[in-house]
Amino acid sequence: MPEGHIIHRLARHIRRSMGDEPVVVSSPQGRFAGSAALLNGQRVSRTAAWGKDLFVFWEAGEILHVHLGLIGKFRVVRAPGPDPRDTIRLRLEGGGAEADVWDLTGPMRCELITPQEQRAITSALGADPLRPNADVAGARTRFLSTKRPVAAALLDQRIIAGIGNVYRAELLFRAGIHPEVPAAALSEADFDSLWNDTVRLMRIGARLGNIVTTEPDEIGRTPGRMKPDDRLYVYKQQRCRRCGTDIAIAEVAGRNCYFCPTCQTR
Ligand SMILES: [Zn+2]
Repeated sequence: MPEGHIIHRLARHIRRSMGDEPVVVSSPQGRFAGSAALLNGQRVSRTAAWGKDLFVFWEAGEILHVHLGLIGKFRVVRAPGPDPRDTIRLRLEGGGAEADVWDLTGPMRCELITPQEQRAITSALGADPLRPNADVAGARTRFLSTKRPVAAALLDQRIIAGIGNVYRAELLFRAGIHPEVPAAALSEADFDSLWNDTVRLMRIGARLGNIVTTEPDEIGRTPGRMKPDDRLYVYKQQRCRRCGTDIAIAEVAGRNCYFCPTCQTR
């Protein structure tokens, strides 16, 4: 599943490639045809990301809401793009400088919503580490008041919006925290350093388009030049990069959380 850094990149990239020209909107698959017809020929006024939710605002007031879910993809193909296939829910053909064609396949959500519905979606979401003025205090209070394991609290989009399975494993390794420690057992200072690390790592991810959590000093390469194998400490790794211990898996919140039993203590 794409994590928040990808959604923020999508928001920026879509805005840029749609430019200020009318956009050709279609639904090659047909399941979004009626809504696509409403948007067709309009300009995009702005885009926004909040956690894993993407919003595209159109000049006549419509708001397109996309959530990619587990298998969805929103990909750019250089114009004129391949023939529409029956899997493409939504196609945007931009008029901007890059004149890209964007194809959305397999989304969990692709719908037109009202401003009230958009506010309802975002007010149910927690603080997004990539948004300015994120409500850190609210996230801290909610995080520290749950008895669930830290690895579950980190995936709870109502507390922090945007963290997925890769970031949670890497953040906990970097903090030296075992995934099954109750979130309520952490101090405010623990939460704040976890939050600050999240902001830092997700900004790197949004810049590079890849999740990179390893420190350049340890790897001997700058983040933008790391091979895929060097980018992560524990997620889907065999051995701990720091101590050589075999990586273990804890199932928390229904998903495998990779961790080092030596470096991450209870
Ligand atoms: Zn280790």
